[in-house]
Amino acid sequence: ALETAHPYRSGYVALLGRPNVGKSTLLNHLVGQKISITAPRPQTTRDQILGILTRPDGQALFLDTPGVHGGYRSLNRHLLRATRGAMESADLGVLVVEAMLWMEDDAEALRWLQRSGLPLLAVVNKIDKIKAKERLFPYLQNLTERANFVAVVPVSARKTSDMEKLADILIPLLPTAPAIFPEDQVTDRNLRFMAAEIIREQIFRQLGAELPYDTAVAIESYQVENGQQRIEATIYCRRPGQKAIILGEGGSRLRVIGSRAREALQQLTEERVWLGLWVKQKEQWTEDTHILRELGYDD
Ligand code: GDP
Ligand code: MG
Repeated sequence: ALETAHPYRSGYVALLGRPNVGKSTLLNHLVGQKISITAPRPQTTRDQILGILTRPDGQALFLDTPGVHGGYRSLNRHLLRATRGAMESADLGVLVVEAMLWMEDDAEALRWLQRSGLPLLAVVNKIDKIKAKERLFPYLQNLTERANFVAVVPVSARKTSDMEKLADILIPLLPTAPAIFPEDQVTDRNLRFMAAEIIREQIFRQLGAELPYDTAVAIESYQVENGQQRIEATIYCRRPGQKAIILGEGGSRLRVIGSRAREALQQLTEERVWLGLWVKQKEQWTEDTHILRELGYDD
């Protein structure tokens, strides 16, 4: 049998860190392409943005976990589930911090990672901001002592060679396994998912604090006809009062949500979009298997 010196490796990598340390930037630069929707969005439910990096020696699947303002202590139950889910399916945990900074939310992110029992890597981002590099040394030393990291890697997410170095360290830490996704794929997200996210984003922008987290968007149909995307979606809410809030006076609010979402979808797809939106109130949508399947909660 032919034996190779370096077996192919593949696995999931959970990225954790407080907002603004550069997780999304890191993800985009690691996979070498902008994955359109990577902004921190506290309204994300269970879903993760998956970034796929494929190299000759392995495939790393990065899970960008929600890092919400106010830290991990204030995550609602959906986000808690999402973050836990990411860590349960991960093979490696990465703590992302910003060079020379250590805050309570960094410590909280580290505690989350430590509870997961995963092997851990620390990525110290934004080192380009530090002019005198020797100043970094005590900081890195300090970080090394905070946990049993396999390695502490200083990088600038915007620097391609740094991303290659990071991948050189990271891929050998993954399990020996074949690639999970085709090599040209950079994310597992399809337009159907993106559409639901964009609509949800507009609901939150238009309603803000008025809306509780248990609202969901289901894409009922998604068709492409003569260069036009035809999307029909239902917004589910739990209480009758919520439906009235989403609709607004004479349906005015729903119209704003719809037109903003349509514009965003046109930008994303670079095609004309027709968007039909409905609001349904259903006390128990979280227990309805048909709806759950529509929403992608089928496991
Ligand atoms: P996230 O909240 O952790 O996902 O952080 P983002 O990826 O959104 O980045 C937050 C900000 O830091 C953005 O303005 C980025 O442009 C910036 N940023 C990210 N990486 C770097 C880096 O390596 N160097 C510098 N100077 N800025 C960075
Ligand atoms: Mg982000």
